[in-house]
Amino acid sequence: METGQRADIKSMDREELQEFVERLGEKKYRAKQIYEWLHKKQASSFDEMTNLPKSLIAKLKEACVLTVLKSETVQVSKEDGTKKYLFVLSDGNVIESVWMKYKHGNSVCISSQAGCRMGCRFCASAIGGLVRNLTTAEMLDQIYRIGRETGERVSNVVVMGTGEPLDNYENLLRFLRVLTDEDGLHISQRNITVSTCGIVPKMRMLADENFQITLALSLHAPTQEKRSMLMPVAGTYGLEEVMEACRYYFFRTGRRVTFEYSLSSGVNDSDEDAKQLILLLRGIDAKCHVNLIPINPVRERDFKQPKRQSVLQFQKKLQEGGINATIRREMGQDIDGACGQLRRKYTAGTGEP
Ligand code: SAH
Repeated sequence: METGQRADIKSMDREELQEFVERLGEKKYRAKQIYEWLHKKQASSFDEMTNLPKSLIAKLKEACVLTVLKSETVQVSKEDGTKKYLFVLSDGNVIESVWMKYKHGNSVCISSQAGCRMGCRFCASAIGGLVRNLTTAEMLDQIYRIGRETGERVSNVVVMGTGEPLDNYENLLRFLRVLTDEDGLHISQRNITVSTCGIVPKMRMLADENFQITLALSLHAPTQEKRSMLMPVAGTYGLEEVMEACRYYFFRTGRRVTFEYSLSSGVNDSDEDAKQLILLLRGIDAKCHVNLIPINPVRERDFKQPKRQSVLQFQKKLQEGGINATIRREMGQDIDGACGQLRRKYTAGTGEP
């Protein structure tokens, strides 16, 4: 929470901020005012906090850093209006976030880490490994800046950008608490999805946190053998225990689990794969939903998208087997904004291309 001498005020949840303000020798109600400036009105400087006395503003400036992301570039998709934002962090690292407009509301897809250490074979974000975890403030501010820039209400948040959110667990939890707080942006828990490659102990911890958020598991293969070829994390947490953790999540929260399955031609898209997937999902005895994503091309990798016909065929097989399956409409592919296409284009530390 403390960055060097100065505290990272936007990363504090409500209670932490209250304690902090009291430690500064201020009254409790000031904490509520500051919290609202930070999270409801999304102030980008202490000077905007006009109902605070000048002396308190001076104190805050001295004691705290206020994280405000700088948007370096915005790319707009010609196909669907999706926008990809490149943000520069205070240490020069660069992250990406995506804004998508759907009929049912506006979504922001945020990054949870700079880089990622999970190494999924088909994913551009894995190239170059993990740089560092994002702070709670850096996760929140991706949404705040985009909301302010577009001037539109953000109704859905998906933690599916660069990084493995459950590998940054404490900051993720604080992020979820602040984002859903009624004195903040107040996003409905049901409109938040956290996607994981399957870090079993953290999935179980999340199930016990009493949130109503959606958990998405990146499954991508119906057997342990195939999955471990695509996702190194499967070597640590096998398919059986991952599925058991999904079942646990469903039973603790009552929330349907989403399974993401990126279809790659000749890799995981055969009728036999569909058959095995049906058996696997029937076996967990929990309400679930499969999101089929035709794999997005990544320059360094040679995974190929199946023909539209085989994607439809795969979906049909699942549905015939009683499994609810939809095909994800991929947004922003022309700007590399789609799943697995976010990457570190910049060199960490310098902010230079
Ligand atoms: N680390 C988390 C969230 C980030 S990835 C996770 O693994 O779930 C978001 C989703 O995009 C995951 O389901 C991931 O497996 C998928 N993905 C990665 N690369 C992809 C690609 N090239 N094409 C389609 N989906 C991809």
